[in-house]
Amino acid sequence: MSLAKVCLTYRLEFITPVHVGAGTGGRGFLDKYLYRERDYNREKDYPVIPGSTIKGRLRAAITALVQARVYGPEEVCRETGDCSCLVCLIFGQKGNRRGHLYFEDARPGDSEIERLVSVRSGIAIDRYRRVARDNALYTVETVGGRNVVFQGQIWGWVPEEKQQKIVAALKDAFAFNYALGFGKSRGLGWFRVQVVEEECEK
Ligand SMILES: [Zn+2]
Repeated sequence: MSLAKVCLTYRLEFITPVHVGAGTGGRGFLDKYLYRERDYNREKDYPVIPGSTIKGRLRAAITALVQARVYGPEEVCRETGDCSCLVCLIFGQKGNRRGHLYFEDARPGDSEIERLVSVRSGIAIDRYRRVARDNALYTVETVGGRNVVFQGQIWGWVPEEKQQKIVAALKDAFAFNYALGFGKSRGLGWFRVQVVEEECEK
């Protein structure tokens, strides 16, 4: 089996601020937390969108597309250990085999890190009684806003005869996704996506 390289760079250009959580943790009273990474050279934390978040979203979209036979009946998952459908190839199988691709974290551009973090707070309103609910004050840490760009890469080696299909499926899956994070219903996390296939140094 000969292998071919896949390297995609994706840019998420935010239209509204985004919140991406990293579970619960001890940061004061903020009820949701940004996933952060440390830049040791500059001694600064900056927000990133975890590659696992991107991977999860793309997996859900490609699974739906494959089940709808968008890439032909041969790509429907056989759910066996040696299955080589698009989902198994790209993402791997539970407890069994790794996928062929790496999903790196999406990072903000260098010039944008400084202005990224803000705190947004609000009060949850009872939809029927239109009064503030008890304990309903929420605080969400968000990043960005209009025109903030996060960029990440997806790369790896795949069976040559599947390369084009894999790239097409990833691009289709990005087109399915236009909002990210917990705040969608509050208007957070909407973005435009650009995916570019390119030579990468890895
Ligand atoms: Zn499969």
